[in-house]
Amino acid sequence: MRIRGFLLGLLIMISPWATAAQALPHIVILATGGTIAGSAADNTQTTGYQAGAIGVDALVKAVPAINQVAHIEAEQFSNIGSENMTSDRILALAKRVNELLNRADVDGVVITHGTDTLDETPYFLNLTVKSHKPIVFTAAMRPATAISADGSMNLLQAVTVAADPQSQNRGVMVVLNDRIGAARFITKTNTTTLDTFKAPEEGYLGSIVGGRVYFHNRIDKIHTTASVFDLRKIKALPPVVIIYGYQDDPEYMYDAAIAHHAKGIVYAGTGAGSMSVRSQAGIEKAIRAGIVVVRASRTGSGIVPPVANESGLVANSLNPAKARILLMTALTQTHDPKVIQEYFNRY
Ligand code: GLU
Repeated sequence: MRIRGFLLGLLIMISPWATAAQALPHIVILATGGTIAGSAADNTQTTGYQAGAIGVDALVKAVPAINQVAHIEAEQFSNIGSENMTSDRILALAKRVNELLNRADVDGVVITHGTDTLDETPYFLNLTVKSHKPIVFTAAMRPATAISADGSMNLLQAVTVAADPQSQNRGVMVVLNDRIGAARFITKTNTTTLDTFKAPEEGYLGSIVGGRVYFHNRIDKIHTTASVFDLRKIKALPPVVIIYGYQDDPEYMYDAAIAHHAKGIVYAGTGAGSMSVRSQAGIEKAIRAGIVVVRASRTGSGIVPPVANESGLVANSLNPAKARILLMTALTQTHDPKVIQEYFNRY
């Protein structure tokens, strides 16, 4: 009996299946909610459904092919729409991802997330998580219950990217709809279409075709292991607000930011960050009150250049939402405008 058990064990150990199973990378899927975990009353409904309704185990179970790509460990971090992500939550998420990637047996992390703020959380992790191992966000535009739901394929592709050794040291990535985007550049460009995540100027890092990962770009911005930001030193992120520029924009928005003790303001400016006389007066008042102000653009792409002979801070090519993430993170380290501008130039 003992000999038979021993022989059987030996057979399992040397079988190709056992070898393949042992060789599979170990990927942790952290689920935070969003449409990828969304559920609707009927299968044609693609708006007005409940996001964050399905648990991580059901998400993984719906894609059996994942188990051929990686050995999966699943964890429910939260189950919310990403419009309800907060600074405290993204900080806790970054710390959890850091912890997981510090484990020797973990080869990469995939995070499922709502699409609405999928340009914010990945960029925060890009600035703060200290690991060269792949960190891949994924999401869906259609709820899991819809015909042609995109979540299962996106999850499979995200795990495929996270499991691929080529994906190391590329910064945090966002995988949807066959494409790999860089957290630094990618943003949601359309309210409902499947190809909504784009970086109009910078393009994608790569794509996933036929289950294989193809990279064709590397980002030139500082991220993860090379970043100065250290999660161990960040206890909380300071309040930073965004004020939108438009015709008739009122100065009282700045008064409100001052009254509510904002530590930073991102001005989502017209064009290349131009300011109405009212915004200019508001910004000057805010700076006098000790608030750090960064000018970004509401246009959706392009660089906001510094104004000659002026020391006002500018967001480089970061959209206002990403600029807010960097300003909050920067303010945990310094209030020196020169150092903050250097972060905006390089991160
Ligand atoms: N508003 C929800 C969210 O951002 C659903 C949108 C989505 O995930 O596509 O989580």
